[in-house]
Amino acid sequence: MLEVNCEKCLDCAGCICLCPETALTINLTGLHIDQNACTLCALCVRFCPVQALEITEKKILTNS
Ligand code: SF4
Ligand code: SF4
Repeated sequence: MLEVNCEKCLDCAGCICLCPETALTINLTGLHIDQNACTLCALCVRFCPVQALEITEKKILTNS
């Protein structure tokens, strides 16, 4: 699954604009990820200027 480190995230919204699945949204509490929409394409992970996004193994573990 994709995870965001809220302490690193600058709320720049760049990742939201480039996500082809519109899986990312931002509100008063920060960046939110629609895990069902996200395809783990990693575009946002590569884009983020402060490495706030990370793909972890948790999705694989919870699906098994
Ligand atoms: S690109 Fe990085 S810093 Fe910008 S909103 Fe997305 S996660 Fe936060
Ligand atoms: S990994 Fe791809 S599909 Fe998932 S939020 Fe990032 S850009 Fe969107």
